[in-house]
Amino acid sequence: MRRVSVLGATGSIGESTFDLLRDGTHQVVALTGGRNVARLAEQARALRAEVAVIAEEALLPDLRAALEGSGVEAAAGPQAVIEAASRPADWVMSAIVGAAGLAPGMAALGQGATLALANKESLVTAGPLILSHAKAHGARILPVDSEHSAIFQALAGEDTRALTRIILTASGGALRDWPLERLASAKLKDALAHPNWSMGQRITIDSASMFNKALEVIEAKEFFAVRPDQIEVVIHPQSIVHSAVEFHDGAIMAHMGAPDMRHAIGYALNWPERGPLPVARLDFATLGQLTFRAPEPGRYPALRLAHEVMAAGGMAGAVFNAAKEIALDLFIAERIGFLQMAEIVEATLSRLSGTSDFHEAPQGLEQVLAMDHLARKAAHQIAAQRGL
Ligand code: NAD
Ligand code: MG
Repeated sequence: MRRVSVLGATGSIGESTFDLLRDGTHQVVALTGGRNVARLAEQARALRAEVAVIAEEALLPDLRAALEGSGVEAAAGPQAVIEAASRPADWVMSAIVGAAGLAPGMAALGQGATLALANKESLVTAGPLILSHAKAHGARILPVDSEHSAIFQALAGEDTRALTRIILTASGGALRDWPLERLASAKLKDALAHPNWSMGQRITIDSASMFNKALEVIEAKEFFAVRPDQIEVVIHPQSIVHSAVEFHDGAIMAHMGAPDMRHAIGYALNWPERGPLPVARLDFATLGQLTFRAPEPGRYPALRLAHEVMAAGGMAGAVFNAAKEIALDLFIAERIGFLQMAEIVEATLSRLSGTSDFHEAPQGLEQVLAMDHLARKAAHQIAAQRGL
């Protein structure tokens, strides 16, 4: 049996992964969670994991109590999460949210595991570092973001030199049909009404602002080694085409399916085989039509910023991601308006572009995390200076 671990098992991606592992065809090594002890213990018992790790150090006694008599080892703290990721496994799901997912993902690659990468912050903030680390350890990365999984699947068996264009689809999020002049007044509850995908709160708002798509453009550039001008974003409200690639003969290959993350997770889990998955089947006749349109630049400044970040290189991705996190926090706290998120991110990029590190490719994770810290501080200062 293949040995697998799930980092971020209690989250949205983690739960979908758990669902696919429940048939008992894999041996589960480690499961990690942030703070939800009860759910983590439940999962660990159900999958007979070797070890369960909770990131919050103070929750160790609770986890021990919840696992009593199960034979599952308990551990806690960020270091224990990294150790869990380093336990020998064939396949590791990286589904911790945010910069906290970087070091555990690197640890999994360091022991040569195949890394199913959902944590998009990894490639956005430290793409070249992570890819070279994987290469050095003979480890493989399989994309789990649905768009990147779609592209990866469309490229299977193809000569990538024939690839001319990547077409990233975007639902357009909750506010896609709002009049432009009303966007500034959009509230949290408006941004949370995602039309198709059921996801965590943060990624749902990022979807409405297209910051999520902006991160994915950068992720695609890193993972598939294409030029920024080869990546096109198109709004596809039905979320049936998960993304597509175009080859130099004009042929386009797309991945289609119901909007269900188990498509991408299951493909990575079964790779290089294509295993059966418990996802809804599409009926073209019922679907009727699929529509596409270009995103209006005025509505989605995040996409323009993504291109500026790619042009800048160095640690611009780390600054972009961190500033976006702070802006998102402020929007969730209802302290800033919907359009002010992009303003804060842009101002943070512009302020930190004056520092010498900004333009340097990071040599290690510490440098990325230091820049992440600096950008968070700067974003807070910028918001405070604007009286927000
Ligand atoms: P989530 O918030 O639902 O779950 C995150 C997981 O990480 C939870 O298990 C949480 O307990 C854990 N966690 C949070 N902070 C932690 C910390 N400091 N240390 C250790 N563990 C911590 O998030 P999600 O929606 O499952 O997304 C996970 C990642 O996958 C994100 O990077 C997201 O961008 C990416 N992603 C998600 C989706 C989706 O459909 N949800 C799609 C594509 C990509
Ligand atoms: Mg996605």
